[in-house]
Amino acid sequence: MHFNSGSCNGCDIEILATLTPRYDVERLGVRLQGSPRHADVLICTGPVTRQARERLRRVYEQMPEPKYVVAIGSCATAGSVFDGCYNVVGHVDEVLPVDVYVPGCPPRPEAIIDGIVKLLGQIRARSGKGEER
Ligand code: SF4
Repeated sequence: MHFNSGSCNGCDIEILATLTPRYDVERLGVRLQGSPRHADVLICTGPVTRQARERLRRVYEQMPEPKYVVAIGSCATAGSVFDGCYNVVGHVDEVLPVDVYVPGCPPRPEAIIDGIVKLLGQIRARSGKGEER
């Protein structure tokens, strides 16, 4: 599931590009879900604004366990250009536990796919089915 917690939309467009047939992430088992109740992974873009904080928490709480969070872009990972703004709470890991960080402004689809592959490696390592990549 994709959630924009205050992004300028640059990262969101790269996520959409990642979902196109050109990058074909369905081959990795990645499908966009419209409901958090059907999602395993929350990919979050942008800094977290005051307005979005509670919505972001509510979306995360509705996801079934086990669940994972990927922060996409420099704003989600470290605040970037929005850091310190009056309406910004902070980066995503100040609100939710983040499993993988994908930096970049915006990150290219290849970097987003690399983040997903890293998450798959972490999940395998935690379940004892393989080495962490
Ligand atoms: S990282 Fe760059 S492209 Fe992404 S939301 Fe921030 S300013 Fe926009």
